[in-house]
Amino acid sequence: MKHFRHNMIRAGLEALYYTGAHRVLRPIFSGIGTIFMLHNVRPSRDDSFQPNRHLEVTPDFLRATLKHLRELGIDLVPMDELYRRLRTRDFSRRFACITLDDGYRDNRDFALPVFEEFDAPFTVFVASDFAEGTGGLWWVTLERLIAARSRLEVTIGGNELCLDTATPEAKQAAFDRLHDLLRSLPGADDLAAAMTALCNHYGVDETAVARELCLSWDELRSFAGHPLVTIGAHSISHCLLARQSETVAAHELTGSRGRIQDELQRPVEHLAYPYGDKASAGAREFALAAAAGFKTAVTTRPGMMFAECAEHLTALPRVSLNGHYQDDRLLPVLTSGAATAMWNGFRRVAAA
Ligand SMILES: [Zn+2]
Repeated sequence: MKHFRHNMIRAGLEALYYTGAHRVLRPIFSGIGTIFMLHNVRPSRDDSFQPNRHLEVTPDFLRATLKHLRELGIDLVPMDELYRRLRTRDFSRRFACITLDDGYRDNRDFALPVFEEFDAPFTVFVASDFAEGTGGLWWVTLERLIAARSRLEVTIGGNELCLDTATPEAKQAAFDRLHDLLRSLPGADDLAAAMTALCNHYGVDETAVARELCLSWDELRSFAGHPLVTIGAHSISHCLLARQSETVAAHELTGSRGRIQDELQRPVEHLAYPYGDKASAGAREFALAAAAGFKTAVTTRPGMMFAECAEHLTALPRVSLNGHYQDDRLLPVLTSGAATAMWNGFRRVAAA
């Protein structure tokens, strides 16, 4: 199913590219600017089972993207400057912000040198439990549990499952099924509890991935001092905020902000909602982010920026630089706004 979706999106991007429709649509849908979303930036791997591949791009693709944006004469600006332009309605020049979620160490080791080449500012959204080394990046843990075994026993929502994970195809099918099952569990703590039980069953330390892949507080302190870097908040535990009580959701926002500010001794004024789709962040979370004092908050809802976004500063859309579509030819399609307009049914703003 996921492959079908990737292929459909890819076909849509290719169609826009080959027909040249993106050139016609650019003046209508390119808006005033774009916030790009990335996660991992690192060299590609050969493994046949890479279920989280959509979350990573290579340094070369990041370089191609920044080169393309520079060639278009687009201003690469930090989130503070985006906020200023929206608040003062300064839309005289098109702009782009580059944002990276979760706080991966590869952002420093592989992305930073590329950003330096282009003198391009960028924002990294940190989940405070990941920096602390106590959080669970369950999607990576699940990948590794499946990669290392030919069979996986798991209890989710009271159902005992025994999944074949012998071949790359079986591993992918098992990952897709478990990923969707875990994300659809209704209770606030169901996902975390199911992963803890699974890790305990196999004797796996579920916090090890955070320490291996994410920047620690010590590392973040020097990283945050780089003139191109802005650090934003990405909640405490990377939970699905919309499933939490209002009190817990509010604490996830204010608590992560407070913790990052204390550790780094600098203001944290921008937020990215974990997951950031409609099921994870809606009107209540947008209001909570504003009440917590964030200047801006970004979702993962696809879209370009339009002047109307100034009225929805805590519900900003982004354009994903997805690992499945790392093709330099398609960059003009992504920056034209035609692709996100297509996904939004040719509505310009998908707020609330
Ligand atoms: Zn995230």
